[in-house]
Amino acid sequence: MDCRLRSGWYGFCGGLAGHLGPPYGLSLRHLAGQRLLLGLLLQKPDWVRPGAAVGVAIGYISADLITGSRPEVAVLLSLANMAGVGAAWMLMHKQAFATLFMQRQSSALLLFMGTGLSALTSAAIGGPVLTVFFNTPPLQAFSMWFGGEWLNYMIFLPMILGWPTRKLGGPDSDRRHPLLRAMPVFAVIALELTSYGLGGPGALAFSLPALLWCALSYRIFTLTVITAALCLSKIVAISLGSFDFTPAHFLETVSFRMGLSMLVLGPLAVAGSHMARTELMRQLRHAANHDSLTDMLARGAFLKQGQRILERCKHDHQSVAILMLDLDHFKQINDSYGHAGGDQLLRSFSHTLAQVLRGQDIVGRMGGEEFAVVLPHVDSKAALEIAERINQATRTLRVPAGEQTISATVSIGLVHIAKPGEHQDLDMLLQHADQALYDAKAAGRDRVEARLL
Ligand code: GH3
Ligand code: MG
Ligand code: MG
Repeated sequence: MDCRLRSGWYGFCGGLAGHLGPPYGLSLRHLAGQRLLLGLLLQKPDWVRPGAAVGVAIGYISADLITGSRPEVAVLLSLANMAGVGAAWMLMHKQAFATLFMQRQSSALLLFMGTGLSALTSAAIGGPVLTVFFNTPPLQAFSMWFGGEWLNYMIFLPMILGWPTRKLGGPDSDRRHPLLRAMPVFAVIALELTSYGLGGPGALAFSLPALLWCALSYRIFTLTVITAALCLSKIVAISLGSFDFTPAHFLETVSFRMGLSMLVLGPLAVAGSHMARTELMRQLRHAANHDSLTDMLARGAFLKQGQRILERCKHDHQSVAILMLDLDHFKQINDSYGHAGGDQLLRSFSHTLAQVLRGQDIVGRMGGEEFAVVLPHVDSKAALEIAERINQATRTLRVPAGEQTISATVSIGLVHIAKPGEHQDLDMLLQHADQALYDAKAAGRDRVEARLL
């Protein structure tokens, strides 16, 4: 068997499609091998060790030897392969996490440069090897290798980098009917079919608008699966002769492969940009609604969300309780342990609150060392128990401050409303809770004073 058939170094297009180029065979190892290796090395930087490189080299060479390559060819082709992966890794591995893993505006550009460099490096070594050992004309050997390699990268590497196990943002969860959600994919299929019907040189880019729609609608991994499927279907379509483009010369094949690689870049760039924007909006919303020291709701956001909860309780004829909390003698704590010690206590106290409260409760920092809580759907007994649990948890709280430890207590004013009425709004209930808090302070602090309305 011709060694080129076994090696398939020109990429898988050749083996799949006689039209696409010389009959260089399809090898599964080469189809996804480097993509997987580069993706893994970028995902797991700890794996980049001399021992691992030797292991990979032995693996590559043995695989070539098993499939019948001559030893010197196996070594040189594996060297070409590993040099390509190494070059891309050098360029890409130091990039920020979000840029590398397809979540930023520059991600697609980085992918373009990294994979282009890898394809160039491996083609610069592998091309001459093919020329020397298989008498392939130099330009043809280099350009076919380069084009095939790059296209393979653009099909597989985005999927590996956008793999959904990573902490990825993306469009908010879409609650529309599945058929509606699938519309962008249907649009891709429709435009692809149109391109096959109409043919001509422009047909390569027909599906671009639908791909952009996918980029704005789906998570990045889904998009990378769609772009990979699109590239593979175009390759299959050409091999079956159902696409009105039959490359007569290897340069046309190279041009086709590079065009397809670049077609994929556009939607990936849009998706990265969209994801960066979505993430920025999320951060902005969070910063606007939360207190930066304690990460509890800021006063304005608390009042808005609390009023909404109160309205829902009114609508459902459900009881609700409001707490006002104020740390005791906080000024003294600041004086004894410094402002930084006071800040640390505020953070730890907020953390304690979050632990004691239920998922449906909300907490806001109303200012200084004052917090407010809305407890929906509680009877008066349960509300009192929750407030006393906060008292108890605060008593046992110990916050390290240098060599010393800060302890604190909290006073709580509670109002419980068995049946919230139309005339009761959150402002008014907070005033009642504040008066109860005042009573708790007057009665000696570190306690709950309750009012039932
Ligand atoms: P009481 O038991 O009556 O509530 O007394 P108190 O000392 O806790 O109350 P007071 O209102 O006299 O003091 C509150 C202090 O909280 C005064 C202010 O400097 C301090 N403070 C306000 N905001 C912050 C903050 O963000 N960090 C720190 N460390 N201190 C703050
Ligand atoms: Mg106060
Ligand atoms: Mg206080």
